[in-house]
Amino acid sequence: MKFYIETYGCQMNVADSELVAGILVREGWGQARSMDEADVILFNTCTVRQHAEDRVLGRITSEARRKHAKPHLKIGILGCVAQRLGNSLLTDYPMIDLVVGTDQYLQLPRMLSMLDNWGARDSVETNPKQLYFDAHPLRQGRHSGFVTIMRGCDNYCSYCIVPHVRGHERSRITEDILMEVHHAGKGGFKDITLLGQNVNSYSYDGVGFPELLVRVNKVPTIRRVRFITSHPKDLSDVLIGAMAELDKVCEHIHLPMQAGDDTILQRMNRGYTSGHYLGLVEKLRAAAPGIAVTSDIMCGFPGETEEQFQRTFDLMEQIRFDYAYTFKYSPREGTAAADMSDQVPEEVRLERLNRLIDLQSRITTEVYREQIGTVKEVFVEQTSKKSDEELSGRSRDSKIVVFPGHAGRISDFVKVRITEASGWTLRGEALDNE
Ligand code: SF4
Repeated sequence: MKFYIETYGCQMNVADSELVAGILVREGWGQARSMDEADVILFNTCTVRQHAEDRVLGRITSEARRKHAKPHLKIGILGCVAQRLGNSLLTDYPMIDLVVGTDQYLQLPRMLSMLDNWGARDSVETNPKQLYFDAHPLRQGRHSGFVTIMRGCDNYCSYCIVPHVRGHERSRITEDILMEVHHAGKGGFKDITLLGQNVNSYSYDGVGFPELLVRVNKVPTIRRVRFITSHPKDLSDVLIGAMAELDKVCEHIHLPMQAGDDTILQRMNRGYTSGHYLGLVEKLRAAAPGIAVTSDIMCGFPGETEEQFQRTFDLMEQIRFDYAYTFKYSPREGTAAADMSDQVPEEVRLERLNRLIDLQSRITTEVYREQIGTVKEVFVEQTSKKSDEELSGRSRDSKIVVFPGHAGRISDFVKVRITEASGWTLRGEALDNE
């Protein structure tokens, strides 16, 4: 019997899909290369925006036609939509056979065997303390690896559904993380990203995140360490110092700013001011010159006036992020912001978003052009999408670099001189001409 997983959403979901694949393969399941080959299709879903949820439910509905040709085919829904909507999915979407929330993956083989034996549709109670001590992700397809270090979030930003869905923050045992990093490195995943909703608040038995980085930095099988996501309120001077000193920690930080106006930040429950945020960026750039700073920015939060939006715009212009993901606020039922009475009209949110997109693409173009002439160490991940004679990889400062080369160099570290910048991609030539 074979399974196929289609993944939506953030890196946490990509890592969770690898975990689910590891759990199923350990129980003797095979991996299908496509939906056509599969006996079970699992959709690992994202609920951060209503649009994301609607999209995946539409996709599941359309893929249900496969059951006509293959009556034994089962369809399962995993992840945040499963966690949020629970058993109601079984009632509202008759083509769904099982619903498995983010803390229930260890029970998936049992649930599937029940379906197989009895044809029963199933979902199970969640375990809010789940940390998957005993499960090993099946990494594949890429040469950079994710390692989840914590699950859940306690921050309750007023616009965000994640804490309501993924539950309270809990950190994995430090030794388990180190072991997983070691094994990932042995498997060829030399560029590791530590994952959590707020990695800066990692804490297990007296080990905080800076100390975790020190220990991960000593794992001999890997060459690079990154982490995502950092919350500005928890980014300490000690952590900035560790980033500057540890040789494997890459010169990149993703630090969501969200807004540049203090009233809006307070209403978002973000726990910092625009001045504090700016101070962090200055400290990071002073401690680690050349560090890439990237961000998430939201516009049209409830009550946002034109002047408040302009503060966000101005702060983005002042900071000059290497790149930033820009969003218009989208209300999520069950969050505090969705109940705020002063929602900004959709057309205003859209117009502000377009201004942010224009601003950031101009800045990204400028920042990327400034890279021309520099030499970057690139970890080669794959052949380029456009040509088999070109390779694509990532620099330490998290930029995609494309250069001529052959597939035999995948998973090598190559020095590349940057000759061109287009969009969010740099192009160059290898210095060793191998
Ligand atoms: S830190 Fe805020 S935005 Fe990030 S997951 Fe937690 S609640 Fe959501």
